Amino acid sequence: MDNWGRPLRKVVIVGGGAAGWMSAAALSAVLKPPYEIRLVESDEIGIIGVGEATIPPIRLFNSLARIEEADFLKATQGTFKLGIEFVNWGRQGERYFHGFGGIGREKLWPVDFSHYWLRMRALGRALPLDAYAICNMAARAGRFMLPRPEMQNSPLNAINYAYHFDASLYAQALRRIGEARGVRRTEGKVVNALLHEQPGPRQGQLRAVQMEGGELIEGDLFLDCSGFQALLIEKALATGHEDWSHWLPCDRAVAVPSEPAGPLLPYTRSTAHRAGWQWRIPLQHRVGNGHVYASSHVGDDEAADVLLRHLDGRPLAEPRVIKFRTGIRRQAWNRNVVAIGLAAGFIEPLESTALHLIQMGIGDLIERFPHAGFDALEIAEYNQRSRARYESVRDFIILHYHLNKRDDSAFWQACAAMDIPGTLRRRMQLYESSGRLLYGDGDEFREPSWLEVMEGQNQRPRAWLPLVELQDADDTAAYLKSVSDTIAKCVAVMPEHEAFVRRYCAAAPMD
Ligand SMILES: Cc1cc2nc3c(=O)[nH]c(=O)nc-3n(C[C@H](O)[C@H](O)[C@H](O)COP(=O)(O)OP(=O)(O)OC[C@H]3O[C@@H](n4cnc5c(N)ncnc54)[C@H](O)[C@@H]3O)c2cc1C
Repeated sequence: MDNWGRPLRKVVIVGGGAAGWMSAAALSAVLKPPYEIRLVESDEIGIIGVGEATIPPIRLFNSLARIEEADFLKATQGTFKLGIEFVNWGRQGERYFHGFGGIGREKLWPVDFSHYWLRMRALGRALPLDAYAICNMAARAGRFMLPRPEMQNSPLNAINYAYHFDASLYAQALRRIGEARGVRRTEGKVVNALLHEQPGPRQGQLRAVQMEGGELIEGDLFLDCSGFQALLIEKALATGHEDWSHWLPCDRAVAVPSEPAGPLLPYTRSTAHRAGWQWRIPLQHRVGNGHVYASSHVGDDEAADVLLRHLDGRPLAEPRVIKFRTGIRRQAWNRNVVAIGLAAGFIEPLESTALHLIQMGIGDLIERFPHAGFDALEIAEYNQRSRARYESVRDFIILHYHLNKRDDSAFWQACAAMDIPGTLRRRMQLYESSGRLLYGDGDEFREPSWLEVMEGQNQRPRAWLPLVELQDADDTAAYLKSVSDTIAKCVAVMPEHEAFVRRYCAAAPMD
């Protein structure tokens, strides 16, 4: 019998990490009965328990899933994030900021602000890029406030932000939301996956997962959120994996929480080390730290030692090593299984993009939520979008590694010398020749992000767009000065991040 056009009913999510519970929270906000959502997770296996920094679109996800901001931050010991400070990435001793807001003002003149800045810098009449970006200046001053959309002409309406939060508390908070909306949770281990074997339109699709105790959980659509296990998309359907480790050689992280130290900073810090880098993520109750490294260049003990030596507070646990493999599933959606989260692919956390890719995967699925016939064209289009997103994030992360000017280790020299994807090469060449940055379909980061990393890591263009020369140099200098002066004044009236968090979303102390 043909299933074409018939609604499917049973959605089964395998896995209860961030991917599983984000999917459950978002789907349960959209799907009403007779749709049923069931989630299977194993307490014994547990979740990966890292994934604490995000990028601004997470706010859209929260509003789609109807999650209230202050409550959510209280429940997850959350803080605000205005961007990432990169230390020792260009050359040792250098630092730069990748902030979330735009740079300069909305276009007053024909071309983008960055070209006026490039020209003025060449004339020695510009401040560093940060001075023209409210998020960067606020972060450097340790200040934060919510944007003021009603202040049309003020940089205060351009504050763009994301969150830091405790990954385990996040999954728990989402679980409460999902269960309150009717998601049925089953605890236990999946030991097998059964396919439809009868000839017909469902042949080869997943029919059910089998629990350790023997129970069969049947479904029409399965979300594989089982993490690196990839239980359904790979173990059951053998979809295939595309390895990207020749571009992104880090394959392990060692993580440890530490006591809070110093003021509560509204940004993540990424400090490059000899064969990788270290994250510092400030939460209300602790600081999350981790050292991402290439095991071909540094051993686990040395990596843990480097991490511990660079903490700024006392460690609160033993360091924990996490292995990972960089790359994507050849198809995120195969037959009636959609992989979300680590099961779909993984790119290291340098720009905090994994939860974002989860969110986009769920959004893309909701947009084309299937009927029981599973339209092959829709599936192909989903897979193509998913690949474009991962590839654009991949290129952005490779840029950080490739553009380094460090000469202190074989690791960094190999990154600088490596062959890069053609898509990234073209982008870098365009910037070098004309100061222009591309913004393409599937790009998860806009021009200001690319600009900040290129400039922060000493990539200088040979030219800027000629139309900027039409503007008188003194007028241009005055324009830039007005932008930086206004931003400085705005930052001066913003509250300290710590005070803001205490007033807006202070969490109860942890036991
Ligand atoms: C070192 C590191 C740092 C990271 N930092 C960031 C960051 O700063 N920002 C960011 O956005 N992302 C980050 N991530 C990624 C982020 O942690 C993950 O994308 C996110 O947690 C989602 O994981 P998941 O839910 O796919 O997998 P997991 O958390 O591993 O969850 C898998 C689930 O599947 C269940 N499961 C597995 N096998 C079975 C079975 N047989 N039966 C039943 N259940 C099963 C498990 O119990 C668990 O519930 C980081 C990742 C790593 C490795």
